[in-house]
Amino acid sequence: MKIAIFGAGQLAMMMIDASKDLGHEFIVIDPSSQPPASKLSKHYMVEYNDEDILKFVASECDVATIDFENVDICSLEYLENHIKVSPPSNALKICQDRLYEKRLFAELGINVTDYHPVGDLMDIENLVCEDKSNYILKSRRFGYDGKNQLKCDEEKELLNNLLLNNDCIIEKIVDFTTEVSLICVRQDEDTMFFYPLVENFHRDGILRYSTFPYLNTSLQNLAEEYATSLLKHFNYVGVLVIEFFVSKDGSLIANEMAPRVHNSGHWSIEGCSMSQFESHIRSITGQLTTFADDFKPCLMINVLSKYPNREKMSELGKYYMHSYGKEERDLRKLGHITKVADHKQELLKDLERYLDILDN
Ligand code: AMP
Repeated sequence: MKIAIFGAGQLAMMMIDASKDLGHEFIVIDPSSQPPASKLSKHYMVEYNDEDILKFVASECDVATIDFENVDICSLEYLENHIKVSPPSNALKICQDRLYEKRLFAELGINVTDYHPVGDLMDIENLVCEDKSNYILKSRRFGYDGKNQLKCDEEKELLNNLLLNNDCIIEKIVDFTTEVSLICVRQDEDTMFFYPLVENFHRDGILRYSTFPYLNTSLQNLAEEYATSLLKHFNYVGVLVIEFFVSKDGSLIANEMAPRVHNSGHWSIEGCSMSQFESHIRSITGQLTTFADDFKPCLMINVLSKYPNREKMSELGKYYMHSYGKEERDLRKLGHITKVADHKQELLKDLERYLDILDN
């Protein structure tokens, strides 16, 4: 099949790389110059809503998918009239807006933290009677990796600035013990599976590292129950990832969803029989005949800001380095490393040393 990917970052790069043996042809669309996936497929350096490229994709491709959430909904809706589009535009539309996302979660009975849309500082005053440090102000759109977020006890000028430039919501801060995500794969109503939960550790709103698996049968079952209702609601095809908080009282609280492959699933390249990237491409092309299995404990750490000293890293034994070929820049995701072991404990014992090398 001929597959168009909107966005040509590392996620697109890893999708193409994982599908080498599946017999597809890829094109990638991305306005930036030399994005990671341009090394592996033909790159069209145009805006995602460029009319010519949309017509070309509609007439020449069989399937369109994304590696990036902020693709124009109208572009996907247009393509949906001509070819298969996964994820469906309705899922993308919801996940582009935190208010719609939280509302849908709540409607489907998925546990979410207390949230309210707000227009100005007065709304925050009226809604938050208790300590304002218990709430975060977030832009509804274009907020990722902790961007466009402020605690509600920040300086009024900063809060005002965010409110003036964005539609916003406030969210009650969850006192969580940890964060986990569920990677879901759905081809059709009879063909769907879930990876075991993975535990995620953020720093400054950015994923720092993940450890796999997070074994908790009741939370796994509940997460899958929540996910099943979401997948059904969208008649979803492809990979969908839901991020959750595990609160101090042990409950599962949905934070957000990503209708695409996700950073917290990178361990799956080495950590099981079928990576999230292969699962996504197989499910959107109707080639999902088996489900991922043979799971192994993994530690995945993002390489941020600068590339690590490989010699020092090698002293800690075998690991897999994935470089995205990007130039170094503060807090930019440049790559990730994955370490696989027989037991999770073995991985945790080297964690601090890895972080130390990567951070210095
Ligand atoms: P987000 O952009 O919503 O994914 O937020 C990035 C990270 O900020 C999350 O993974 C959490 O670590 C933290 N965070 C965001 N919202 C909340 C919240 N309501 N309560 C506690 N931590 C949060």
